This record gives sequence, structure tokens and C-alpha cells, in this order.
Amino acid sequence: MMNEEIPNLKAFDEASLDEAFGALERQARGDATVLDGDAAVEAYRLHWLGRKQGRLNEVSGRWLKAAPAEAKKALGLRFNALKAVVEQLLEQGAGAGLKDAALAAEAIDITLPGTRRLTGAEHPITKTLNEITSVFAALGYSVGVGPEVETDYYNFECMNFPPDHPARDTQDTLVISNQDRKPLRDRLLLRTHTSPVQMRTMEAQPPPVRIVIPGKVHRNDAADATHSPIFHQVEGLCVDTNITFADLKGTLDHAMKALFGSAVKTRFFPSFFPFTEPSADVQISCIFCGGKGCKKCKQSGWIELLGCGMVDPAVFAFAAEKQPAYDPKKISGFAFGMGVERIAMMKYGISEIGSLFAGDMRFLGQFV
Ligand SMILES: [Zn+2]
Repeated sequence: MMNEEIPNLKAFDEASLDEAFGALERQARGDATVLDGDAAVEAYRLHWLGRKQGRLNEVSGRWLKAAPAEAKKALGLRFNALKAVVEQLLEQGAGAGLKDAALAAEAIDITLPGTRRLTGAEHPITKTLNEITSVFAALGYSVGVGPEVETDYYNFECMNFPPDHPARDTQDTLVISNQDRKPLRDRLLLRTHTSPVQMRTMEAQPPPVRIVIPGKVHRNDAADATHSPIFHQVEGLCVDTNITFADLKGTLDHAMKALFGSAVKTRFFPSFFPFTEPSADVQISCIFCGGKGCKKCKQSGWIELLGCGMVDPAVFAFAAEKQPAYDPKKISGFAFGMGVERIAMMKYGISEIGSLFAGDMRFLGQFV
């Protein structure tokens, strides 16, 4: 900062005053061009406005006091104007300092690598569910959904599991507590299969019906490598006039080829389910060895994959209570069901069913 001594004023006419104050203002403005940072602003304040050695104080001491009475007013006006200029420069300097600090704090280094956000992806179960569903959608099936908390009636009774029938023991059931005062058929449980949606669909619409039902089911199974108390099923139901077992075989053979490749063969074995008669288990030729025999198919060349059968007339009789068109003498149909976890585990080479539900991103990330 320039530190020229304030000269004594020799003349007090307007022109001399303008010149003297003009020179001071130029100095003040010149000093203010380097006001970066708090220390510089404070130094400027002291230099110009300081009570003892400030330049304005000196001007006041030397010029104002020495001025003749008639010049005091003109000099005072110029003095105040100069002081206002200095204060304004000071304010600007302080503001600029703040602004710089704020800018520095918000500065972004655009050369730094960005934060990568994870893109959502389908869980292997969801993916498999969708694949199976779309195979049947292409055959004209619509998708049905229903409640996961069901009544005993929809889960068991109407599916031809009479009360106290031993077939109920094959599905270890999680029931809701404190319902002993309700009639058995109204008691709530976690559905053990997606079959209740078959009945709910038939009650809601007369035949023909072609529906595929993907969904979550629960059983009171101890968790191990292949069992979980929660799992998913895809069931299907087809009802119309003149539906035969040949339609069932043709549909499932096509679906398995669509899912696992055209080289896959299917074969049917007699089985038992309360809601179908006759019933069958379906095996597909081993997708790992092509049927030659390997560890995955226990050297048999075949893998058991789903259950199916012709809808039991007793099930149609329950549906006919609300939709008389389900007369077992006039219509027929087939139903099938498969476990989604088993298929997903085969497709993706997963050995522990529990890892599908553990929510571990390191595991799930492998299937994106
Ligand atoms: Zn094999």
C-alpha cells in the first residue's frame, strides 16, 4: 500500500480541494485492488480508517482543522464522500474474500473418477419366474395372482384335501395362531402351493380357462441345501371341452423344450396328487449330460422337474358351486406345477437354495 505522507493543503478553493481529494481517492482505489483474504482487508481498514494512524484521520487532523471557516463545508462534503468510497471498497474487498472462500469450498475436481451407482437387476428367482411365465404366455395363457395368506378352504378343502385326510400331511403347513373358534375351512394359513388361485380363477370366470400362476409359497420345512420354508411355484391350469392327457403332454413337452432347449426330452410317470386324476411326475432328459448319465442326474440321464395331471372331477365340483359351467361331465382340464428354485438352481449352477434368499450382493451380482 502506498504510504505517502498527507501533504498540507495550501489552497482551499474548489479546484484545489477537488485535486487533493481526487489524488487520495485514486490512492484508496489503487490500494483496494489487492484485497484478497481477511488479512489484506484488515490491513487496508487500518491503513485508511484506523483511529490513530489511519489516513482519513490524518486528513481530518491536517486539512479540516487548518481550513478557513468558509471552506470547511466544501472540505467536509469531500471528506465524507472519500470516506464513503473507502468504506465501500472495504466492503467489496471483504465480500470478495468470502465469495472466494465459498467457491473454494464448493470446488469440484472434475478429473476425479465419479461415484458409480449400481443399476438394478432381476433376482435369479424373478428372472426364472418371468422366463417360465413367458413360455406359457406365448401359448395364450394369462397370468393369475392371489393372496399368500389363504383360508383352509382354498388351500386344501376345494383342492380335494378333505379335513383330516392324510394327504394334508404331505404339505407341512404354517398356520396363523388363535383361530380355534373359527370353522376349519375359514382358518388362515400361509398357502403351501399356488393352487388356491386355480379355484379363485374358476370361481371368477366360466371355462375356457388358460392360466399360469407364478407365486411365493410357504411350508414348515427345515432349511437345508435344497429345502427352504419359503419358495416359489409356477402352476398352470387349462380347462375347456375335450381337453385330454395328450394336450397336457404336448403342452409340457413344448414348455420344457422352450425353457431348456429343443434337444430336451420329457417322460411321464404315474404319481398321486389329491387335485388331479390321473396324476404324473414329469422328468426331462438331463440338461448337463444330454441323457448319458452324470453326477447331477445321479447317472440316470433324467431329472424330475414337475408334477401334473388331469383336474380331478371333485375339484370341478367345488368350482361348480359358484360357476355351474364347471360341470365335470361336460368339461375337462389339466393342471401342472413346478418349483422355481429348483429350475433356477439348475440353470445357474447354484448348490444352496438358502443363498437365493440371503440377500448377499456378492452372490446375486454374479447373475446380472
Ligand atoms: Zn446328467
